[in-house]
Amino acid sequence: MIFLDAAATTPVRREVLEAMWPLLTGEFGNPSSHHSLGGAAATALAAARRTVANVLGCRPGEVTFTSGGTEADNLAVKGMALARQAADPALNRVVISAVEHPAVEESARYLERFHGFSVDVVPVDSTGRVTAEALSAVLGPETALVSIMYANNEVGTVQPIAELAALARERGVPFHTDAVQAAGWLPVDVKTLGVDALSISGHKLGAPKGCGVLFVRGRTRVEPLVHGGGQERGRRSGTENVAGAVGLATALALAHADQARLAERVTRLRDGFIAAVLDGVSGAVLTGHPVDRLPSVASFCFPGTSGESVLLELERQGVVCSSGSACAAGSDAPSPVLLALGIEAEVAQTAVRFSFDSSVTDADLDAAAVAVRAAVGSVRTLGVPGR
Ligand code: PLP
Repeated sequence: MIFLDAAATTPVRREVLEAMWPLLTGEFGNPSSHHSLGGAAATALAAARRTVANVLGCRPGEVTFTSGGTEADNLAVKGMALARQAADPALNRVVISAVEHPAVEESARYLERFHGFSVDVVPVDSTGRVTAEALSAVLGPETALVSIMYANNEVGTVQPIAELAALARERGVPFHTDAVQAAGWLPVDVKTLGVDALSISGHKLGAPKGCGVLFVRGRTRVEPLVHGGGQERGRRSGTENVAGAVGLATALALAHADQARLAERVTRLRDGFIAAVLDGVSGAVLTGHPVDRLPSVASFCFPGTSGESVLLELERQGVVCSSGSACAAGSDAPSPVLLALGIEAEVAQTAVRFSFDSSVTDADLDAAAVAVRAAVGSVRTLGVPGR
């Protein structure tokens, strides 16, 4: 099998599992316990926090461990907006982009349904980019928070985060970015990016599912969403997933140490694969930005097919990929992300996303390009039924 669905999830790296193993077995303590086992767990958790902080270029106290990217996004969007509204009830608008992951979008909609917020959606251009002008047009004196993703999970487009965050800062508005897909592939130094909050998920990086991080700058106030024993400096109660935190920290540090080299290698492979698909499949359209895109994502529409049928045919040929985001898999509705790029609904339904992890090889992608040509050809002639 050639696995080209790494944007959905990745296998746990051996080094990560080895780092986690002691915390799941002999050193299984609860970090809040006052005996030596608890102390060992607290020490491991503190070390994991320092490792994450080193990669992000922030202080350990600015790192909150969560149950994943979704919770990190929820905590940022709801927690920061609610804290600002509590301080000043006039701050009752949140700004998101038109291509956010549901973890951000639905958090904003929740604020709208239950807390009197309005949601301003910044449009994107046909490559999926938010421009500074478009953001500037929706920022107002009532804006409590801006949340714009670093890189898109469906088309891989990378946003000019430093420029957008600087604009929000000029207007005195805190800026959150969902870096779940970007981490490991792009620099995530929060000072260079100039963001106030940033989300990461472990399972996109070679750590297990169910662990994430939210960075929140300095004294930025965040209303907790999970109440209880006050762990994570009161930001996120619940006994900490110590092994998960250690796994995430290990995976993030490994990815970061090799980031520039890997990004360059995989970008080269990605561009070769894109060229082979565009060359070999008549009418194929690359979606997202042609250059400012994740090294790891090649996404297409194949007009005259159904994306689901192409996936099925590709899987029969040993290539596993997805029609867009794993969250929307199996849904017949065209992807809101592709519609936001101005792609016709009928064409959006023919989308297929190939996403790579760092182990991808030339041979994998050569074989995948041949399989894509065959799969699209057979769906066009036979109309292979969808799932
Ligand atoms: N944000 C983005 C951009 C994602 O791609 C994902 C997962 O697909 C998430 C958030 C949610 O992360 P998690 O699966 O850790 O909850």
